[in-house]
Amino acid sequence: MSAYVKDLIAEVKAKNPAEPEFHQAVEEVAESLSLVFEKHPEYRAAKILERIIEPERVITFRVPWVDDQGEVNINRGYRIEMNSAIGPYKGGLRFHPSVNLGILKFLAFEQVFKNSLTTLPMGGGKGGSDFDPKGKSDLKIMRFCQAFMSELFRHIGPDTDVPAGDIGVGGREIGYLFGQYKKLRNEFTGVLTGKGLNWGGSLIRPEATGYGAVYFAAEMLATKRDSLQGKVCLVSGSGNVAQYTIEKLLSLGAKVVTVSDSNGYIYDEEGINTEKLHFLMELKNVRRGRIKEYSEKYKKAVYTAVDPKDDFNPLWNHKAHCAFPCATQNEINGKDAQNLINNGVYVVSEGANMPTNLDGVKIFLDKKILYGPGKAANAGGVAVSGLEMTQNSMRLPWSREEVDNRLRLIMKDIHTTCVHMSERFGTPGNYVNGANIGGFLKVADAMMDQGVV
Ligand code: NDP
Repeated sequence: MSAYVKDLIAEVKAKNPAEPEFHQAVEEVAESLSLVFEKHPEYRAAKILERIIEPERVITFRVPWVDDQGEVNINRGYRIEMNSAIGPYKGGLRFHPSVNLGILKFLAFEQVFKNSLTTLPMGGGKGGSDFDPKGKSDLKIMRFCQAFMSELFRHIGPDTDVPAGDIGVGGREIGYLFGQYKKLRNEFTGVLTGKGLNWGGSLIRPEATGYGAVYFAAEMLATKRDSLQGKVCLVSGSGNVAQYTIEKLLSLGAKVVTVSDSNGYIYDEEGINTEKLHFLMELKNVRRGRIKEYSEKYKKAVYTAVDPKDDFNPLWNHKAHCAFPCATQNEINGKDAQNLINNGVYVVSEGANMPTNLDGVKIFLDKKILYGPGKAANAGGVAVSGLEMTQNSMRLPWSREEVDNRLRLIMKDIHTTCVHMSERFGTPGNYVNGANIGGFLKVADAMMDQGVV
């Protein structure tokens, strides 16, 4: 680690204590950018990275709501408006009991670089709440969403800050949030993305993150004249990103053998086919059940409970060619990364945000596998959110083919940027450096142009 990065990280830790995920995200980016600062001291002199690290605005608020038994509940709401140099703040809302300031700051920080990579004019933001939607009735979810938006509405707008979904926030929640925003503002605008199709949503938005992660893997494989056809793939998670990652992998002729939730995972040696995927979607999106039920329905599939206190996750310890982590941050540690390598995995495309910890990333880079970091590989979701904003501004919807073609082109562009930037800064094949540097330069130049604001 260079002296510059060491000092920077020490300062970030002192200023932002108890935010380990944020420290981790900054450290990874700062390591890559030290290559840029050697050639371009002007960015360092203007303290561009130091400015990006400090959110432009952090909003925290009380979310009081009354549940269907009449009990008063209090949650904490957040919106981190991280950087608006290249466009309105843009990034998802996460509803999960683990949500805290450090997690949202890491996500907002990552989002700045990711949004820049998409080629679209979007700044970076993230928000959410420590509210746990699991097992709650629709009525409770609606009441919470309305209470959350009763404060958030004064901070967002189609030209200011445009939230979307993330863990625990899907189409149902976006609907309730949008309804409350519309009521309070008396405006029908594209203030949220991931909307329903008949009220301003874009085709392919639900599919976009998963499809994009698969397109990115296909691009990486194409550099070796290889494809996904016949590849055995490990997928984690069973939510929005995991489901559409599986769907696209199946359509490209790959075989998916795992899927998980926070309690455990399924290993289905025969492979998850279209019928099984439909069962999974119904289980998770309609009945909102646990993944264990998959093995009760498909007897040859094996369910294994996972204890988060263990020092490795057995899901990553199966023979395969490719891995698509699509659940949450830090789900692959050094031991898991080594297990993946030992089992023959040579492609990792991250659907989740920062699913691999710093030890794991180091192993992937040392082994020179095709490793697509989240801010590049999962940028398809926010890219199609950007396309939803465009369609809302034009008041014209695009066809499925039009959006999917644009998504494919954007993922190709992101891949090309990563490859070019990693080569330009002397680390060919290193998609981490390529993504961090490619995402940084556009934002940095905009900040230089706009002065110290
Ligand atoms: P969902 O809420 O739809 O699904 C999340 C999945 O991950 C569920 O299977 C969930 O299991 C599992 N999970 C969540 N937290 C944990 C945990 N602490 N340990 C183990 N498993 C966990 O979310 P998404 O699919 O939308 O998001 C998944 C990842 O993709 C996140 O990292 C998100 O930030 C990232 N992402 C999402 C985008 C989007 O468009 N939705 C865009 C870009 C990135 P359970 O049901 O048990 O909680």
